[in-house]
Amino acid sequence: AKVSGRNNAIVFDEAMHRRAALRLAVETELPRAIERDQLQVHYQPVFEVASGEPIGFEALVRWQHPEHGLIGPDSFIPVAEETGQIVPIGLWVLNQALQQVKRWKEELSGAEKWKMSVNLSARQLQDAGLHSGVGDAIRAAGIEPSAVVLEITESVLMGDADQSLKTLTKLRSLGVGIAVDDFGTGYSSLSYLRRFPVTSLKIDRSFTDGLGGSDVHAGPIVEAIAAMGRALGLRVVAEGVETAEQLAELSRMQVQFAQGYLWSPALPAGQVPAWFAAIRCN
Ligand code: C2E
Ligand code: CA
Ligand code: CA
Ligand code: CA
Repeated sequence: AKVSGRNNAIVFDEAMHRRAALRLAVETELPRAIERDQLQVHYQPVFEVASGEPIGFEALVRWQHPEHGLIGPDSFIPVAEETGQIVPIGLWVLNQALQQVKRWKEELSGAEKWKMSVNLSARQLQDAGLHSGVGDAIRAAGIEPSAVVLEITESVLMGDADQSLKTLTKLRSLGVGIAVDDFGTGYSSLSYLRRFPVTSLKIDRSFTDGLGGSDVHAGPIVEAIAAMGRALGLRVVAEGVETAEQLAELSRMQVQFAQGYLWSPALPAGQVPAWFAAIRCN
């Protein structure tokens, strides 16, 4: 249908207005979101490709706003990083996620070995309290440090490398895993894989997306990352798996772990027990 220029302008104007209102809400109300009990953690399962079994979850934060509805992290994490709010928010997410996985380990048969992955911003790695915050969260939840994975992006490793190396080495010595998130999207040299105490690589969704499709480079890149990860003794996780065809390719390339909408989006904690019961019956 042909839309008049005037109508387009009105639609455009409304969308712009909504975005500006959201931005304003994020900036003014985010500092109160934790105490107002508006933040939620959702959990996306991660699977072992060979067995098809869930081996843990990635914690992903959301903001349940009274007027704007459920706000995704891409709309407020960047602001939280600018203002420094990410430090208390990140610690809150970590504590929620570790306590949650502890409950599942106790309550659900088959969940005993589940791991919990939590995203860390560059800003949090510069926070002097991070190491003790992570240690306290692990002790408070009463779980094995080896059940915890901290996800960082390559840009963290490329930034203030000396400081990041110190911080990550201290975190790693707690016994937690360190994953490089969105692997392959940065332009750093791979030498950091030797220097940093990394335990997993998460292949970015943009590569998974291209598997089995028209992107002739995606396959060889994923295969090379998988082979390198294996050679270095790292766990390799493919993100954003949406089709059975992508899964078949990943399996052929011996990628060990995967997550994506093929299995499940991130779920509210309350839905996980029924979800797990349902997949166990199949
Ligand atoms: P990420 O860490 O790369 O997380 C993966 C994102 O991809 C999530 O989006 C997830 O819901 C989405 N996803 C998972 N499977 C699929 C799939 O099969 N197809 C597609 N199209 N998407 C999929 P989400 O939850 O919106 O999170 C976006 C980003 O926000 C995350 O990217 C992460 O960088 C950041 N983030 C989320 N929670 C936190 C947090 O607690 N702390 C920090 N610092 N960052 C967070
Ligand atoms: Ca992540
Ligand atoms: Ca990622
Ligand atoms: Ca990402």
